[in-house]
Amino acid sequence: MVIKKKQTEEEKLETMRHSASHVMAEAVQSIFPDAKFGIGPAIEDGFYYDFDLPRPLNPDDLPLIENKMKEIIASNLPFTRKDVTKEKARKLFANQPYKLELIDELPDEKVSIYQQGSFLDLCRGPHVNSTGEIKAFKLLNIAGAYWRGDEHRPMLQRIYGVAFETQEALDKHLKRLEEAARRDHRKLGKELDLFSIQDEFGPGLVLWHPKGAIIRRAIEDFWKDEHVKRGYELVYTPHIARMDLWRISGHLEFYQEYLYSPMDIEEQKYILKPMNCLGHILIYKTRIRSYRELPIRYAELGTVYRYERSGVLHGLSRVRGFTQDDAHIFCRFDQLETEIVGVLNLALFMIDTFGFGNYQMLLSTRPEKYAGTIEIWDEATGILRQALEHTGLPYDIDPGQGVFYGPKIDIKFESALGKAWQGPTIQVDFNLPPRFDVTYMGEDGQEHPVVMVHRTVLGSMERFLATLLEHYGGAFPVWLAPVQVKVIPVADRHLEYAHKIEVELKKGGIRAEVDDRSERINLKIRQAQLEKIPYMLVVGDKEVETGTISIRLRSGKQIADRSLAGFKETIKTAISNKVKDIEDTLS
Ligand SMILES: [Zn+2]
Ligand SMILES: [Zn+2]
Repeated sequence: MVIKKKQTEEEKLETMRHSASHVMAEAVQSIFPDAKFGIGPAIEDGFYYDFDLPRPLNPDDLPLIENKMKEIIASNLPFTRKDVTKEKARKLFANQPYKLELIDELPDEKVSIYQQGSFLDLCRGPHVNSTGEIKAFKLLNIAGAYWRGDEHRPMLQRIYGVAFETQEALDKHLKRLEEAARRDHRKLGKELDLFSIQDEFGPGLVLWHPKGAIIRRAIEDFWKDEHVKRGYELVYTPHIARMDLWRISGHLEFYQEYLYSPMDIEEQKYILKPMNCLGHILIYKTRIRSYRELPIRYAELGTVYRYERSGVLHGLSRVRGFTQDDAHIFCRFDQLETEIVGVLNLALFMIDTFGFGNYQMLLSTRPEKYAGTIEIWDEATGILRQALEHTGLPYDIDPGQGVFYGPKIDIKFESALGKAWQGPTIQVDFNLPPRFDVTYMGEDGQEHPVVMVHRTVLGSMERFLATLLEHYGGAFPVWLAPVQVKVIPVADRHLEYAHKIEVELKKGGIRAEVDDRSERINLKIRQAQLEKIPYMLVVGDKEVETGTISIRLRSGKQIADRSLAGFKETIKTAISNKVKDIEDTLS
């Protein structure tokens, strides 16, 4: 007998979403009687099912499948469960090769099958009682998906859908999706000409275009200045290193799936570095360090390479080569708390400067498998906790979620779309220092193991640009905008004055540009609007005569009769203060 536990709201929703995938499969079966079925789990907000079909699906198929699903839901068919032997199951699914493969792998002698209407599925459940319990749903899109995520297996067709308790909740979700699609960093990156990822160059490898590079430089300059101010020293390390190093570090053992194949250089094996840590350790170790020298903080915008399967690559947020804003702190145990507080302050300052309001701080504690002793874990975890208390801000504990080499603090922040982004991480490491014998000379004249902290504030330049793009929908604050001012002459006779303004602004370090095409003024304004340029200066007869400027913000707000000198000062102040909202810069 199956005892039904009381489900939480979230579990209920998940059950309903998974049940919807069965209904979708039944609908697909009625349209394609020869369909072969993969799997159909619930996912965040919805569900999917993978099919092997006689022809490729197209978007027009989705409404047909939806209508069929609505019929099935309207007839309120019960979901019935049967437990059968594997042998029986193999007969029932004789013409379903993917199901047969799954049956073979199930550990128990008996397997459960579920039926609703004419559709039979191999499934562990649970499901809703009957199809009528499936509420508001919508099929979203079709994607290719390798069977079991393996690129050597057949490519199946996956249909994604979403389902909610009410039509209202579904509508709200669809609206959010629409906004997310509008702000998708891959789309904006192309429209704003910031970067490209080209198959010809290689998937997951980012080419930064001039305008993207301007944004990146602004971020990097700010990052470097802020680190130097806070006592970090900048270093640079190469992109490849001897493979033996990664054997000592344990990466070859624990991290192998992310490493690229080695290359031979004079009969020595080298690999592309997946992390920057080891270079920093070797710099530290070039001489004996006294307790008085600590803490030592090395910071690097270090480019690393990790092997990600092509199926998981995603725009700038999941790539194969990326530049981490990395740093390693080497300190004594009694300095750890102050160091962590320093990193937290820096991280929160950065998050705030870039304009992210909501964030969540998480302390991850000792997992089941760990390096070091319980005592040292407890002590370090206690120190991280004190550092978090020190900020006076709320935080949560994520029990057992630390990495094997030490406890960590993660800060996740929320973009304007409510999407959570992995932000800063701060990790204490009990693994690498003993492996590389990283020590300092104590006051007692003895060598002591150093405490090592890995930390990143922005994550990577690539992922952070994606975050920024989606957060601002491409309308960057003025200090980050690739073009800060577009000067738009009304007619060709205003060109000279326009160029004079441009030169004057550029002298002040402002990124200004003249739209000197002989196009209609409205078209030029629309173009600048699409490029999301913070300030447009429209110059015509009146401006030329009076030697003034008229400013148009990308919000549409207009301010006439300004002096160029005054505008220049205002915008320079806005840039150096990293003002987030350009509306605040002029009034
Ligand atoms: Zn199921
Ligand atoms: Zn590191």
